[in-house]
Amino acid sequence: MKLKLHWQILIALVLAVIVGSLTGTDAAIFGVSFYDIFAFVGTLFLNALKMLIVPLIVSSIIVGIAGIGSGGDLGRLGAKTLLYYATTSLLAILIGLVFVNALQPGVIDGQPARDMIGLSEDVAELEEKVEGKGAGDVAGIFLRMVPTNIVAAAADGQMLGLIFFSLLFGYFMTRVSHSYASTLHTFWEGVFEVMMMITDWVMKFAPIGVFALVAKVVAGTGFSAFLPLAWFTAAVLGALGVHIFVTMPLLLRFVGGVNPLRMYRAMAPALLTAFSTASSSATLPLTMECVEKNAKVSNRTSSFVLPLGATINMDGTALYECVAAIFIAQAYGLELSFAQQFMIVVVALLTSIGVAGIPSASLVAISIILTAIGLPLEALGLILAVDRILDMCRTSVNVFGDSCGAVIVARLEGEKRVLTTDEEERRLTSHS
Ligand code: ASP
Repeated sequence: MKLKLHWQILIALVLAVIVGSLTGTDAAIFGVSFYDIFAFVGTLFLNALKMLIVPLIVSSIIVGIAGIGSGGDLGRLGAKTLLYYATTSLLAILIGLVFVNALQPGVIDGQPARDMIGLSEDVAELEEKVEGKGAGDVAGIFLRMVPTNIVAAAADGQMLGLIFFSLLFGYFMTRVSHSYASTLHTFWEGVFEVMMMITDWVMKFAPIGVFALVAKVVAGTGFSAFLPLAWFTAAVLGALGVHIFVTMPLLLRFVGGVNPLRMYRAMAPALLTAFSTASSSATLPLTMECVEKNAKVSNRTSSFVLPLGATINMDGTALYECVAAIFIAQAYGLELSFAQQFMIVVVALLTSIGVAGIPSASLVAISIILTAIGLPLEALGLILAVDRILDMCRTSVNVFGDSCGAVIVARLEGEKRVLTTDEEERRLTSHS
């Protein structure tokens, strides 16, 4: 029997850690370093995923929205989705707040860790990382939502604009005369089917892509980089862990009425891909595939909830922003008042909406928070060493948060097949 995809990816991950730490950046074969080979293969896989995004998202949203039909239904779905997103992001931030205040990672032996950790001199590197990640301010998010040029928005990966346009297109497609509407329907459904098939095919390469991406990270940074920041890493991982293994299962169980364990199994390929790519946008095709095929959420719900979630709902990122900003304040020896912490929570919530689903995008948002509390941006250098590994983890949490959103909203919309076994599904269909 063929090994299931998530096992293949998991094995690839473990092998990548071993091989990456053995090769480092220098080992070479025929004069080409392994590091370059990993980078090449990893980029190829990432490119393939990104290639799918625009046609997949556009066709999926149009088909999904056209299927919802009336404006009232759409409004109800939208309201449930946004309520879920806001609540879970806020919960994630509060968990982060508790962890960072309890563990105090910025304080070592009663002293601010500032001198011990040493600030990054390399401001240029920092600026390069932060550049173009586009968190922007709140008004900027709304401006981007209505793009001046839909083709340019697609080319620049401005997903919010693309989503908005596709929503409009799908909605008004049902309003034109029947002959046009049915042609458009057939066309977009065809595009969507083809895109799902291509996604399926690209997914077969996931183990190789994941291997290359993770081996590259391990070969490039090694493990020693994050030892001095162990407490910070522990605070972030602990809080992310509580969110994904306590909060989410509770919501799935008591709001969605589904078995949380099945959810992890259904989403495993997407979570592992999110982990290795550190990009929720790049993972989106797999997220949709897993939610629709494995978790059995209808296209009607998932095509609305998931693309929107990949752009605006980032639980892991919001949590990380909060922990990182407070950690930096602690390391500087700054006592944050309740009001200041409250402001961090609000800014983290708002900026996590605008952060792009690409690697290291949080750094921009953290810089906005640091500016707001008046700390030098240079302090971001403190966390650069561990940012990548934490990025991998928070991106998995982001993707899981979106997927749970799709499941819970689907259940609230009365979908019965969600996360059923084949046996249960047979029983359901025979009853109806
Ligand atoms: N890498 C994250 C994502 O794509 C965003 C971030 O927190 O940097 O979801």
